[in-house]
Amino acid sequence: GSVFAHLVQAPEDAILGVTIAYNKDPSPIKLNLGVGAYRTEEGKPLVLNVVRKAEQQLINDRSRIKEYLPIVGLVEFNKLSAKLILGADSPAIRENRVTTVECLSGTGSLRVGGEFLARHYHQKTIYIPQPTWGNHPKIFTLAGLSVKTYRYYDPSTRGLNFQGLLEDLGAAPQGSIVLLHACAHNPTGVDPTLEQWEQIRKLMRSKGLMPFFDSAYQGFASGSLDTDAKPIRMFVADGGELLVAQSYAKNMGLYGERVGALSIVCKAADVAGRVESQLKLVIRPMYSNPPIHGASIVAVILRDKNLFNEWTLELKAMADRIISMRKQLFEALRARGTPGDWTHIIKQIGMFTFTGLNPAQVSYMTKEYHIYMTSDGRISMAGLSSKTVPHLADAIHAVVT
Ligand code: PLP
Repeated sequence: GSVFAHLVQAPEDAILGVTIAYNKDPSPIKLNLGVGAYRTEEGKPLVLNVVRKAEQQLINDRSRIKEYLPIVGLVEFNKLSAKLILGADSPAIRENRVTTVECLSGTGSLRVGGEFLARHYHQKTIYIPQPTWGNHPKIFTLAGLSVKTYRYYDPSTRGLNFQGLLEDLGAAPQGSIVLLHACAHNPTGVDPTLEQWEQIRKLMRSKGLMPFFDSAYQGFASGSLDTDAKPIRMFVADGGELLVAQSYAKNMGLYGERVGALSIVCKAADVAGRVESQLKLVIRPMYSNPPIHGASIVAVILRDKNLFNEWTLELKAMADRIISMRKQLFEALRARGTPGDWTHIIKQIGMFTFTGLNPAQVSYMTKEYHIYMTSDGRISMAGLSSKTVPHLADAIHAVVT
């Protein structure tokens, strides 16, 4: 018999499993609202025009080779990524106290940052919001950190539990690491206001808590790259240290290229240099060095003024379509007289709406309406279109009445 015969079948990933179930459903009216990827009004994946142009430039350049990148990845990409998230005028960049390494999208950046902290930071506990993206606890546990949660979402208001958040961070041991969604919190779509961010910042700095920002949706939430980066820049402006994981999956539509970056903002340039040397020791035995293609696409776009401007327009168009889906769904429920307060659909931000539907309601909608979503009631607004809003509104109406 096989030496692996004792293995039990592992469950599908809670998020990716939704698409697997969707694919098996033969119904012509089926609707997949589980995917965390942008879809056009026609329900199709989108490759941005600027990405096509950048790829064409890369293909036309016969001097390009396919040698290994350095362990830290494409150096120009790293510099441009730091500028994008921290701001072109960032004092930390000017003073050379930021180290940035190219990683395998957001996930890889979180993992490398987590392992770096587990090796070199005095506190080994990371606080993550409750709820959060399902991969967070697994990433940080495997990185060698101990994971605890802080209150974040209040089901009764479908908004932020700000009091609970402040209490939990206030009670965290001095120096603990805190994972913060930079914008468009996944899965809730609930973000603190800038005033609340300022209070969070003050509390965290007063207790020496280490911010680790997860920026998977820069530009996707508000439509503006700078607006969505504001919370991070507030923490940089006070001169303190932090980590930030960036992903280009959503905002450039580069999902499968696996392109992202980890930046660590330090207090001094010499420290940043030593941090980078240790990051290389984390990365080398993990995957040696990152892939070249996606980072090259990003570098072409970020370095060229025209392409950059074109990107911001395409990004804004994606964000605007999502916001318009929120309005349409809200209006459709209102038109049906669906009981309950559905204003959270238009108040929440980013790719997802946390509907407040419970697992039984979700499973009813899947069975009777062929609508697929995660069991926590999270729906991807990017998976909706004007054509499919009525079907979803009918299903929600049926399940709550
Ligand atoms: N962080 C959050 C909150 C996410 O929602 C995602 C993707 O869904 C990621 C990180 C990482 O995505 P990727 O590894 O594709 O960049």
